[in-house]
Order: sequence, then structure tokens, then C-alpha cells
Amino acid sequence: MMELISEFDDKMVKKKEIVDEENDFSQNPERQGDVEEEDKIEREDGYPPIDDVDLSVSQLDGVGAVTQKKLETFGVTNLIDICVRGAREVSEITSVAKPTCDSWVFKAQKILEDNNLIRKSDMDVMDLMDYHEQLPTVSTGCTEVDELMGGGVRPEATYEIYGEFGAGKTQFCNTLTCNAIAEGGNVIWIDCEDTFKPKRIVEILMAREEITSEEAKEKLNNITYLYTPNTEQLLGTINALSTLLLEKKPKLVILDGAIGQFREEYLGRGTLAERQMQIARLMTHIKNISFYFRCPVVFTNQVQSDPSMMFGDPIKPIGGNVVAHASTYRIYFKKSGKKRLARMVDSPEHAQADAEYILTDKGLVNVE
Ligand code: ATP
Ligand code: MG
Repeated sequence: MMELISEFDDKMVKKKEIVDEENDFSQNPERQGDVEEEDKIEREDGYPPIDDVDLSVSQLDGVGAVTQKKLETFGVTNLIDICVRGAREVSEITSVAKPTCDSWVFKAQKILEDNNLIRKSDMDVMDLMDYHEQLPTVSTGCTEVDELMGGGVRPEATYEIYGEFGAGKTQFCNTLTCNAIAEGGNVIWIDCEDTFKPKRIVEILMAREEITSEEAKEKLNNITYLYTPNTEQLLGTINALSTLLLEKKPKLVILDGAIGQFREEYLGRGTLAERQMQIARLMTHIKNISFYFRCPVVFTNQVQSDPSMMFGDPIKPIGGNVVAHASTYRIYFKKSGKKRLARMVDSPEHAQADAEYILTDKGLVNVE
């Protein structure tokens, strides 16, 4: 990994450093000084009034027209993108020295904090506790599984759902999606396996609520669906996601099958390092998306069998430590006879525990 990092550094050094001329077209008088001082915890939908805040990258010292153009080419269009991508990537994109990019990320973070777009990094511990309690949840409606997750999935966290084929990972995502859109929220669904079926969403909605098929179909408009048949498309989609995230303010972001796609494309030991580097970058981005856009990101993962395991369950999620560390919560789904089991394997706040459920036309439901 260290070798790869230094390879990256070398590439960056080879590129000529460009210092842009000063520019003054960044000022937007309409947006100055009118940011509400309202505490974000009290906002009904959990979202700050992003439209009122100047998020242009040109307000960062040294970002002129040329750098701005380069950033735009790579999908970095606002201050949130600067934070999501991080200084190393911004440096690669712009060919500007890393320390300058560090200062951009720091300043961008500060502007977002000052405008209450993200949580303050030095929040009082009591306030932090209140803040966590007031974060909105998206639940499955299956009380067993919801309890396992402390009520549902929450913003500022990534949820890794792993398990064998047919374990119910996509059905879990379907069920969460139905609950989110039933309440009027938006969902962004990134499909890497081509297994998203709108018909199934309509089925779950109609089975759960007293609505007509027309009304259920109408609710499908709240889902933004993005199909990514290969890893290039996936990484490109993630990189370009911020405009959509700002527009939709989704209650939930789903990546179904993301890590498995890397396993399929990067075959053999020789490609392992490159594969892990790409996965690491994807994981950093989705973790940052969940924090800076304040939404839960749920991603599903495949499993492999560990032949060296003498005792216990040899089933392990793929992707190694890179994925393990980037997931706030890891939940293992497995079939257990006619029933199914969800196990909270790793969580910063929950003990390891199991929940039983079955799959029906209503999606995930409690075992009767
Ligand atoms: P993969 O790794 O292959 O993507 P997965 O974990 O995502 O697998 P799911 O698609 O979530 O698997 O679950 C498939 C299971 O869901 C099947 O076993 C099927 O029995 C069940 N299922 C699918 N549709 C329905 C339905 N309409 N009603 C009841 N059960 C269903
Ligand atoms: Mg699936």
C-alpha cells in the first residue's frame, strides 16, 4: 500500500504546478450575509438551507479560472466536493501542491461548519448526544431488524450489508427505499448488478399501504436510479454525484453490489493492489458523502469462505480491511431454514446481536 501511495506522490510531483491568477468573479452579492443563524438540529427535515450558502470553489485562495475548470472537469463543483475528495485527490486533479490543497480542504470544511451545513467538529459532548438522538432514521418497518440498528439507518453513517447470494441484501434495500419514499423522501439507488426492479418496489408499497397501483407508481418518481455496469462507470457516477445530492437531498443512498464489481473485474493476484486502491478510494468517497451530505449510505457486499477458519462461521465479506474500516455498521444477512437472520457484526454502539425476519410481498417482516 505504501508503494502505491508513493507512486501516486510521484505522479503528482511529475505534473507541473500551476498557480492561477487571482480572480474576482466568485463574489455573489445575493448570497452574502443572509445565512440564517438557525440551529440545524431544529430543522424539520434535518437539512440546512444549502441554497442560501455560497459554495463556489473560487472563494478559496488561489483557485482561479484555470483550476476551477480543471476541478469541474473532474466533477468537483463546490466546497462539499472539495471535502469529499480530500486534499490528495484535489492535488492530483489540479496539479497544485498538496499543502495548498490541504488548506483548501480545511477552509472548505470551516465554511461548511460556519454555515451549519455540517456538524461542528468541536461540538460540546452533550450537544453531540442530542444531535445524534435527533438524527432522522429510515426504518425497514420490520421491528426486529429496526431494533438491531437502533431504529433504522441514520445519516452520517455507512451501512455494509453482506451475505451470500439470495440472503436478502437487495430486499433490505428495497424495503428501506419503500419506507423512505412512502414518507415523501428521495432515494438515490446506484445499481451495480442490474437487480433493481421497480415492480418489486410497487409490490412492497401496495402490500404495506392502502394505495392504488397508480399511486405506488407515482412514488417511484422519488427514486433516482443509476445503473453502473462496470467499475469505471461506478467511480465516475460517485464522483459526479454531488450535484444530484444537492438537488435531491436524499433520505437514503444505496449502492447495491459495488464491491463485488471490483472482484469480477480485477482478476488474479497481480491486480490485488490496484483493486484495493480503487476500493479504498470508493469507500472514502461514500463515507464522506454520508457525512457531508448528511444521509445514510447503505452498500451491499458479497462474501467469501475463509478455508483457514477452524471454528465458527467461515463466511467473510470481501474487500478486506479497507471496507471493514470504512463501514460504520456491518450487518451480516444469512438464510436460516425458512427464516432469515440479520446479525449486527460491527457497530460503534450496538452489541453483537441477531434479528430474525422473513421475506414476503411486504419486503422484510417479523417472523410471526
Ligand atoms: P445477491 O447477492 O444475489 O444479490 P441478495 O442477498 O441481494 O442476493 P435478494 O435479492 O435480496 O438477495 O433476495 C432474494 C430472495 O428474496 C429470494 O430468495 C426470494 O425468495 C426473495 N424474494 C424476492 N422477491 C420476493 C417476493 N416478491 N416475495 C417474497 N420473497 C421474495
Ligand atoms: Mg442483490
